Amino acid sequence: MDKITIAIDGFSSTGKSTVAKRLAATLGYIYVDSGAMYRAVTLYAMNNGYIGEDYFDEAGLIAVLHNIDITFHFNEELGFAEVFLNDINVEKQIRTLEVSRFVSQIATVSDIREKMVLQQQRFGKDKGVVMDGRDIGTVVFPHAELKLFMIATAEKRAQRRYDELIARGDEVDYEDVLQNVQSRDHIDSTRADSPLTKADDAVEIDNSEMTLEEQFEIVYQYALQKINKTT
Ligand code: C5P
Repeated sequence: MDKITIAIDGFSSTGKSTVAKRLAATLGYIYVDSGAMYRAVTLYAMNNGYIGEDYFDEAGLIAVLHNIDITFHFNEELGFAEVFLNDINVEKQIRTLEVSRFVSQIATVSDIREKMVLQQQRFGKDKGVVMDGRDIGTVVFPHAELKLFMIATAEKRAQRRYDELIARGDEVDYEDVLQNVQSRDHIDSTRADSPLTKADDAVEIDNSEMTLEEQFEIVYQYALQKINKTT
């Protein structure tokens, strides 16, 4: 059976990665979390003094981009690939609210986007990939056979993200999480380079009132239809 490319875009915390991971595992495809790559660059920038509460040394960060190596390594126990920054597993560190506060600013930088997009295209060169992000159907894989665009209310998304952070032991405030979700939505959809937007040929799915199971079933059926069409 021919393999296809599946692009899943949408606003922050719409549950893209949960459905993408399961879809990839079910189809035997690779899953790539493109947001994790921008988060890893952000962690590097934070740890090396390029970004903080009231400063961003964009030129300085661009000058050291060649020192940032991002790789994914499949974790058999978890069933998905974890992200490594310069050979160190940063899967947990990149999911903090602090990284979320700076990541959208980092993701506005064209030099950074260019490096990430090239690497993402390499991951998908043989098809058989499910990738989630903000510009996958518009920029990374404009010819993807299946494009999905996930939406949900900001309040639902913030609640899901808040529950996730609390479950892993982070001390966070719901209002801060909601504010972060809204602020990232705004920066991601208004930036000059590759803004978050629905591709013309993407299927929009509002999952505000859907269970994970319902959402997966819909997405899986779309994938099967496209796969059957290409074989
Ligand atoms: O998907 P996630 O919420 O982890 O993404 C973190 C941030 O990375 C987004 O808010 C966005 O600023 C940036 N991003 C992006 N393009 C992508 C994926 C993520 O700009 N393809």
